[in-house]
Amino acid sequence: MKRIAIFGSTGSIGTQALDVIRANPHLFEVEILTAHTNEELLIQQAKEFKPNAVVIVDEKKYSKVKDALAATDVKVFTGEQSLEEVAAFDTYDMMLAAIVGFAGLKPTLKAIDNKKAIALANKETLVVAGDIVMQRAVDNRVPIIPVDSEHSAIFQCLVGESRNKIDKIILTASGGPFRGKKPNFLLNVKRDHALQHPNWSMGAKITIDSATLMNKGLEMIEAKWLFNLAPEQIQVVVHPQSIIHSMVQFEDGSIKAQMGLPDMKLPIQYAMAFPQRIPNDFPRYDFKKINMLTFEEPDLKTFRNLALSMDALAKGGNLPCIMNAANEIAVWAFLRNRVGFLDMTDVIEKTMNYVPFIEKPTIEEYLESDGEARSYAASLIQL
Ligand code: NAD
Ligand code: MG
Repeated sequence: MKRIAIFGSTGSIGTQALDVIRANPHLFEVEILTAHTNEELLIQQAKEFKPNAVVIVDEKKYSKVKDALAATDVKVFTGEQSLEEVAAFDTYDMMLAAIVGFAGLKPTLKAIDNKKAIALANKETLVVAGDIVMQRAVDNRVPIIPVDSEHSAIFQCLVGESRNKIDKIILTASGGPFRGKKPNFLLNVKRDHALQHPNWSMGAKITIDSATLMNKGLEMIEAKWLFNLAPEQIQVVVHPQSIIHSMVQFEDGSIKAQMGLPDMKLPIQYAMAFPQRIPNDFPRYDFKKINMLTFEEPDLKTFRNLALSMDALAKGGNLPCIMNAANEIAVWAFLRNRVGFLDMTDVIEKTMNYVPFIEKPTIEEYLESDGEARSYAASLIQL
C-alpha cells in the first residue's frame, strides 16, 4: 500500500489521480488532500477517501469544511502555511504535486526535506527554482518522478539506459488551438476561444499556456532540470495528433518514443506506481483510426512566449523565475479579459527586462524575484 498525499486534489490532475486510486484500492491509500477554494469537492473527496488530513487554503471556507467532516476522523487545516505543515507529516509515502503555479513550490520543497517521493505535475516548481529543488532531492535521496506527459515519456524512454548518454530530447507540442494562426488573428482572440484545447482537457492556466506555447517553454526548462540537460539538447517539434508524447535520441542516433492516446491518467498512474505498470481499461491507440502522425517546426515569430522561454532557459539564473511570475499574472489577467492575447507576451518580456538578473540565486532571492516580477507585471496591466 502506497500512502498518497495529493496537493491540489480538486484540480484536473488531482481528480484524475483520485480516479486512478479509486480503480486501484489494493495499491493506493489517500493520506492528505488539499484544495485552494473548492470546498464542496474537497468535502466530497474527503468523505469518499477518508484521508488523515485535508487542507482548505481559503480561510473563509474553513468552518464549512470542518462542520461537514465533524462526524469523521479527518483533520481539517486552513491557510497557506498549513500546506507546508501537512507536507511535513510522516504518515505518507508520496506527494502528488498537483497545485498549479508558484504556490506549489514551498509545499513540494517541504516534502523533499521530509524525504517523501514526489510525483511532479507542478512544472512551475522546477521552472522557478529547479537547481535548488533538484539538489535537495539528491541530498535527501528523494525520487522526483514526472507526471507531465512529455517528461513521463522521456522518463519511460530512459528506463534501462542509465549508462547511455543522451544526445538530445525532442519534446512534442500539440500546437494548441491556434496552431498555424498569425498575429493579426491572435490580436482579437478571447479567453473562451483560447480555453478550447484540441487534444487535452486541463486546468485553465495550463490551457492558456498551451495556446500561447508558454507551456512548451516551461516544459523545456522543466526537462533541463529533470534530466540534467544543456539547453541545446532540448528540441521542440509540433505534433498535432499528440500520440507521440516525446522522444529521446541517444549517441548512436537511435530515437526512442513513448506513444499512446492523450490521457493524463496514464502518466499519473505510471508515476504513482513506478517502477510497476498497472493494468487499466483506458481507451487504446489504434493505428487504423489515427494513421497519420505529422510534425512541424514551432512558429517562434508568432508564438513569442516560446522564444522568450528559450532565452530564459539559455541565460538561467532567476530569469525563468521572473518569466514564470510575469506569465502567471498575465494569464490571470487574460482569463479575466483584462489584457489581450498578444499583450501577455509584452508584459512577460518587459518584466524579464526590468527585474535585476541574479546568476546564482538563493531560495530567498528566488522568492524575492517572484514577488518583484509579480508586482511589476501587475503595474503594467494596472491591476
Ligand atoms: P487546476 O487549475 O485544474 O487545479 C489546480 C489545483 O491547485 C486545484 O486543486 C486548486 O485547488 C489548487 N490551487 C490553485 N491555486 C492554489 C494556491 N494558490 N494554493 C494552493 N492550492 C492551489 O490545474 P491542473 O490542470 O490540474 O494543473 C496542475 C499542475 O499540473 C500545473 O502545474 C500544470 O502545469 C500541471 N500539469 C497539468 C496537466 C493537465 O492535464 N491538467 C498536464 C501536465 C501538467
Ligand atoms: Mg505537458
